[in-house]
Amino acid sequence: MRYESTLEFAKAQDASDPLQAYRDRFHFPSSDADRLVYFTGHSLGLQPKPLRAAVEFELGEWAKYGVEGHFRAANPWYGYHELLTPPMADIVGAKASEVVCMNSLTTNLHLLFVSFYRPTKARYKIVSEAKMFPSDRYLLETQARFHGFDPDEAIVEVGPRDGERLIREEDILAAIDANADELALVFFGGVNYFTGQLFDMPRLTGAAHAAGAPAGFDLAHAAGNVPLALHDWGVDFAAWCSYKYLNSSPGNVGAVFVHEKHGRSFDLPRFGGWWGHDKATRFDMEPGFRPMEGAEGWQLSNVPVLGMAAMKASLDIFAEAGMPALRRKSETLTGYLEFTIDRLAKDCPDAGIGLITPRNPAERGCQISIDVAGRGKKLCDDLIAAGVFADFREPCIIRMAPVPLYNSFEDVQAFGSIMRGLLGQEAA
Ligand SMILES: *Cc1c(COP(=O)(O)O)cnc(C)c1O
Repeated sequence: MRYESTLEFAKAQDASDPLQAYRDRFHFPSSDADRLVYFTGHSLGLQPKPLRAAVEFELGEWAKYGVEGHFRAANPWYGYHELLTPPMADIVGAKASEVVCMNSLTTNLHLLFVSFYRPTKARYKIVSEAKMFPSDRYLLETQARFHGFDPDEAIVEVGPRDGERLIREEDILAAIDANADELALVFFGGVNYFTGQLFDMPRLTGAAHAAGAPAGFDLAHAAGNVPLALHDWGVDFAAWCSYKYLNSSPGNVGAVFVHEKHGRSFDLPRFGGWWGHDKATRFDMEPGFRPMEGAEGWQLSNVPVLGMAAMKASLDIFAEAGMPALRRKSETLTGYLEFTIDRLAKDCPDAGIGLITPRNPAERGCQISIDVAGRGKKLCDDLIAAGVFADFREPCIIRMAPVPLYNSFEDVQAFGSIMRGLLGQEAA
């Protein structure tokens, strides 16, 4: 695609965008600026308009039926989570039996580690990425300690080389190889939250397996953003949240994937609760935990219906649009943001801004992180005041995500003009 920085070009692209109409299904925050550009779907997705009615509907069912709603509601609450499984499984490339929506992300990762991080004296190391999202880092530290290991010895972090920003795949493979005899687990983010780098999950999974260890992924920044084929890749387990690219509401319920090959491993250590117990005898209320088959066997508690109703309203939109079409638009739109930033860098050479995220579309989703060359938070605050929602990370990184469901080429073009204005003011 040959990009141009004019408003006419952006408008023409939007006019021929097959997903254009989806933008109107979301609520955009109000702003004093002429145009609000929402580029923070990597942190909290926008509210789908049908979501409120979906939640209100379940409140109505509760008012109408009380406890009987578990079985008499239009979508009985007893099995409400099952409605979310097919669309969620589609998003991550899994079989329905491999996915269940439950709890929140960090909670789910701890539960999955109970089953899949089984360190021994000889094999106890976790190969992972440096500068993980803090919650994941605390997960690894406390899991290592829980099993009696020193986190500094148990966690092998692979980071960028000196002077580089991205992690080289060859370095991850080398770390897996070098630690093969002591390896208990390979655990990575699918997409790094800071740089937007998308890792080659099938390759890392293959390398983990060749070293005799399982592979697990945190897909917080991957689910709903990049194409995933967890089943075919043979990934052992994964977990993600639903409030970033999946737009299901702040802090809402997350989801897990457990590969079919572990679905009948009933002797895998796990923490049990009544919702993971064999459905046929769940209400006999007898002792003797017998896990359900598949991912559902990791559930603990009964269904938080209001959150799941919100999630269903959001996943319905994904099912309708389809990940392949979303990905097609995402590549073009993210490419336009990359072009816009390159133009700014070229036209304002003194500004010193530069791209951090990989340039190869196969190695990124829709997030673009830029280095703003030592400018503090002020540039980001100015952007927000001018109507561009972006996110600042110390020391001088701005993260933006043009989300294919609700962002447009005109959004990207508007960001370019606003940023040009801000950098121009600086230069003057
Ligand atoms: C957003 C995010 C989290 C948040 O975890 P919660 O348990 O949902 O609060 C954790 N890890 C990563 C990588 C994230 O991007």
